[in-house]
Amino acid sequence: MTRLWIKNPLGVFTADDTPDAPDASGGLVVENAVITEVLARGAEPSAPVEEVFDASQHVLTPGLINTHHHFYQTLTRAWGLVADAELFPWLTGLYPVWARLTPRALELATTVALAELLLSGCTTAADHHYVFPPGLDEAIDIQVSAVRRLGLRATLTRGSMTLGQDDGGLPPQSVVQPLDTILEDSARLVRTYHETGPGAQVQIALAPCSPFSVTTDAMRESARLATELDVRLHTHLAETLDEEDFCRERFGMRTVDYLESVGWLTDRTWLGHGIHFDDEEISRLGEAGTAVAHCPTSNMRLASGIARVLELEDAGVPVGLGVDGSASNDASTMVAEVRQALYLQRLRYGASVPVHRALAWGTRGSARVLGRDDVGVLAVGKQADLALWRLDELRFSGSHDPVAALVLCAADRADRVMVGGQWRVVDGRIPDLDVDALVAEHSAAARGLISG
Ligand SMILES: [Zn+2]
Repeated sequence: MTRLWIKNPLGVFTADDTPDAPDASGGLVVENAVITEVLARGAEPSAPVEEVFDASQHVLTPGLINTHHHFYQTLTRAWGLVADAELFPWLTGLYPVWARLTPRALELATTVALAELLLSGCTTAADHHYVFPPGLDEAIDIQVSAVRRLGLRATLTRGSMTLGQDDGGLPPQSVVQPLDTILEDSARLVRTYHETGPGAQVQIALAPCSPFSVTTDAMRESARLATELDVRLHTHLAETLDEEDFCRERFGMRTVDYLESVGWLTDRTWLGHGIHFDDEEISRLGEAGTAVAHCPTSNMRLASGIARVLELEDAGVPVGLGVDGSASNDASTMVAEVRQALYLQRLRYGASVPVHRALAWGTRGSARVLGRDDVGVLAVGKQADLALWRLDELRFSGSHDPVAALVLCAADRADRVMVGGQWRVVDGRIPDLDVDALVAEHSAAARGLISG
């Protein structure tokens, strides 16, 4: 049993919002995978420690948590043909490219996205993978292996599309699957990989893609299966006004009514984006405890709109942050998303939206969105998932409040990242990952995918 003292950080944000949250300016004691002490300035650990990490040059935060991504899209970043498009034309331009996805390309894309996330302070990531062309039946299995190799935690969702163009949906027939295949594979993945309880590394959730790419029966059956297997549900909802029009025309109702009609308005569900809700819908989502993954960069990139995050949260909706897929961000830099969220929400609500509230979305809030209470906060009994940030780069020079500097001066890389007591980033690098080789192979796969 090893005891490590992360001692006297330069600044600390614990995300602990309990009324008697302790002063953590003396640091933390980590014992195996868990935080066992939170120390005030000047306090000493209650028992001897084997190791001390001097954090006097570091800002200490919980590991950031990403609640919405599409790892495979790192292969189609900044692609000129859809660089200036809104969601629907962006999707119809990309579907035929994504239909050529191969197992090796997905493995590389997943590794790239996970590495970017980890290096930018993320310790738990959700992915929404919904493209299963022939030959890619084991997409989620491939992702599980990559997650285990890099050592962070992940909620991997078994995505799906069942509503093709022939039936009035947006995606071409070549990327939709029969519902039986989807449900069978979903059950297999949950049985094989889903871990429960504190410290779970891999969790599986079910994730029909969106109202305009999934049939009503696929939504209903996914909800039924998720309840039976006790796993979470994820989908895109209320991302654009085009989607709202689609729901009105096809289902004769607005998005939240549709969600309710298929049995999804529950606290098992988290929604990607959640932008276009009216007041009444926000109340209903709050009452149900349905969660929202706010994806500010993607929402700006595709000009989708500004989510009503403060009102959602005040109504009881758990809100977290997502970088979204890399074809609409196009970076998986998790700490940058905190800054984007802060500024986009200030644009809506004014400059008094606090820096700490944005950091809370990316940590404690995101943990709630993924249904976890063992991560996202630095407190006794929580998993030792944390990030340490140096402020000695040019961009921070002249800054005063270390925690605010992290966000306002646009940090993009953590110096150290720990997941469950294990260092996964050391001196700004992932040990044992050859980034140059990865970039070379991933770039070649990306070019191959576009050229067909
Ligand atoms: Zn998305």
